[in-house]
Amino acid sequence: MTDDEPAAAPVSRRWLFADQLGPHFLDVPDQLVLLVESRAVFRRRRFHRAKAHLILSALRHRARELGDAAIHRTTETYREALDGIDERITVCDPTSRPARDLVRRLETEGLVDVLPERGFVLPQSQFERWAHGRRRLLLEDFYRDVRRLHDLLLDENGEPVGGRWNYDQENRQPPPRRVRRLADATGVPDPWWPDEDDLDAEVRDELDRWQRDHDVEFVGEDGPRRYAVTRAEAVTALEWFVEHRLDGFGPHEDAMLEQDRWLSHSVLSPAINLGLLHPLEIAQRVVRAHTEGTARLSSVEGFLRQVVGWREYVWHVYWHTGEEYRQASALGAHDPLPRWFAELDPDGEVGANCLAHVLRAVREDGWTHHIQRLMVLGNWALQRGYDPAELSDWFQRSFVDGYDWVMLPNVVGMSQHADGGFMATKPYAGGGAYINRMSDYCGGCAYDPKVRVGERACPFTAGYWAFLARVRPRLEGNPRMAQALRGLDRLADLDAVIDQERARGTAAP
Ligand code: SF4
Repeated sequence: MTDDEPAAAPVSRRWLFADQLGPHFLDVPDQLVLLVESRAVFRRRRFHRAKAHLILSALRHRARELGDAAIHRTTETYREALDGIDERITVCDPTSRPARDLVRRLETEGLVDVLPERGFVLPQSQFERWAHGRRRLLLEDFYRDVRRLHDLLLDENGEPVGGRWNYDQENRQPPPRRVRRLADATGVPDPWWPDEDDLDAEVRDELDRWQRDHDVEFVGEDGPRRYAVTRAEAVTALEWFVEHRLDGFGPHEDAMLEQDRWLSHSVLSPAINLGLLHPLEIAQRVVRAHTEGTARLSSVEGFLRQVVGWREYVWHVYWHTGEEYRQASALGAHDPLPRWFAELDPDGEVGANCLAHVLRAVREDGWTHHIQRLMVLGNWALQRGYDPAELSDWFQRSFVDGYDWVMLPNVVGMSQHADGGFMATKPYAGGGAYINRMSDYCGGCAYDPKVRVGERACPFTAGYWAFLARVRPRLEGNPRMAQALRGLDRLADLDAVIDQERARGTAAP
């Protein structure tokens, strides 16, 4: 530096929220940091215990990594954590509306400076320019433009490698026949699991104490930690997935097996949503795997679609739609969640094998893959008319990768069709036939997916027709529903189905 050059501004202390823990939230590797644990967050609402464990463990591991560079505070509220810090604090725009409101207020008071968000592929301003003037914000258009913008899986002419943008057809296969685990057919190894350490033990003891003191209530089990809490763990999990599981990811990504919760999924969403991995680095890594010949095109495309397509799209829809989106209920759904559903407690109450299995998986792992969320849990709630905002809140609290920005569009828009078709052109409702085709659940069930009326009537099949009959007046003008609604008229036993489902009411199936 010469005498004439202005001195570089000193790098500020960076306040990192618990979902901003990766290196890309810092300007320089040795930046000073503020990390805050707020007990009030866990006291206000009933979270999955594995999620509380994950967040606290991730914060404490980050604090340990940073050593003297970190101020790590445990306070009742975030605001208290700023007391007595007499230096400039910057914070990347947080991911939820309440947190953004808070940092804006603190900025007005001169306590922090707010920087643009990080951790996503497309800046919000760029999405708004993309959305401007479009009648519909179609995922497919958005996804292709993100791929063009970042040169992901394109040939030298800017066309998609392989000549197609979409490999959904190859990627929506049922599970292989006569196997209990995908590994029986493909040999795919389990996902990479982390080893717990002293910080996990400390967190577990602390959560036990909170519960013993009736200070905080949780749902779900805090079994062995399955998800990465450090950058090193997250990178290891990513590499393991790319090397051992990515190639087989696509074909059975929608399949469900009772004895195999993970199939060939990456299970990286908790780490990505803690900010430990950047979605673009993941996208570039999986594209490289295809270029190097270790992962088939359809699997890589399907995975890209999830990470830089759908994930990025719901992030932008969350901000684009505004707070009133939370109250949307275009299908008139307002019922509260029943206890066995809300508390992840199907044992002894739920005979529907698919639903019981998925609720148990959420209780034990705080995670299921997207089809179990959409076509079992979401489909069930849609058919029964659960309140979309309450359901979204439940998904956010009960899943280790759940955040307001993820769940609100996914639940209110995609799964419950409560936004009247802004995100999805028709409701994701399905009967037992879909679940039977895509899983092995029905073989061990008290119900029969083909039966609509009587003791063995599958609650998803009967529920599907009862749902259609109930929402028919609201969907009649939707051309994509025309065929399904015509099907209603052909059901000779529709009245019996409706009476039966009315009588079943909110009882566990
Ligand atoms: Fe689920 Fe119906 Fe199949 Fe039972 S028969 S597992 S309730 S879809």
